[in-house]
Amino acid sequence: MKQLIAANWKMNGHPDWASKVRQLAKLVPAPSAEILICPPHLILDTLSAAADETSIAIGAQDCSEFSAGAHTGESDAALLAEIGASYVILGHSERRAAGETDARVKAKAGRAIEQGLRPIICVGESLAQREAGSAVSVVGAQLQASLPDGGEFDIAYEPIWAIGTGKTATVTDIAEMHTAIRDMVGETPRILYGGSVKPANAQEILGIMNVGGALVGGASLEMESFATIVQAA
Ligand code: 13P
Repeated sequence: MKQLIAANWKMNGHPDWASKVRQLAKLVPAPSAEILICPPHLILDTLSAAADETSIAIGAQDCSEFSAGAHTGESDAALLAEIGASYVILGHSERRAAGETDARVKAKAGRAIEQGLRPIICVGESLAQREAGSAVSVVGAQLQASLPDGGEFDIAYEPIWAIGTGKTATVTDIAEMHTAIRDMVGETPRILYGGSVKPANAQEILGIMNVGGALVGGASLEMESFATIVQAA
């Protein structure tokens, strides 16, 4: 499978950012990696229209575990698919910090797969957990409790201490964790790395064994820098 280079725009964006999709398509007309942009849900349909007839896929940043009904403020996976999403990020540490549990991530992943979305399940340890030597066991427990029982999905390993801090895990840290995850989940899921990925470190990170792509926050908001990361794959 191709590497997946995914942009997590988090709560950044505007309908005008459709122009960024067109810009990216021009910057990398024939990418060797799969490209994904996950904008805020409010502009997902606008971006999806802009991505039409390009090789850029559009994804959501979360979805509900429920089907349509009395769930105020939630995003239905079926509707996200209807307006152009093909992927959904689930269990991002910023959502886990707001109370998202492994069980809920698993339920959301099941619902997403049922509706034709491919989940990217995020896992990662805190700095205190890494310093205590429990990074692999923390991530293992998260995987065991939050992966769906079947269907196709990807995993993103995002050490919390490397998100938005400019601190990247070392090549050795990434290689060890990705190999440990590979041993736990088998050959199929791609295992993305996320946490301060930028043009300067993308090639090195994407060359590590068992790294199946990158989940990029800050450096995905400017298309020149995101395109450089895509070209590093
Ligand atoms: P940064 O690339 O800004 O560190 O964010 C990583 C991330 O959280 C992607 O989901």
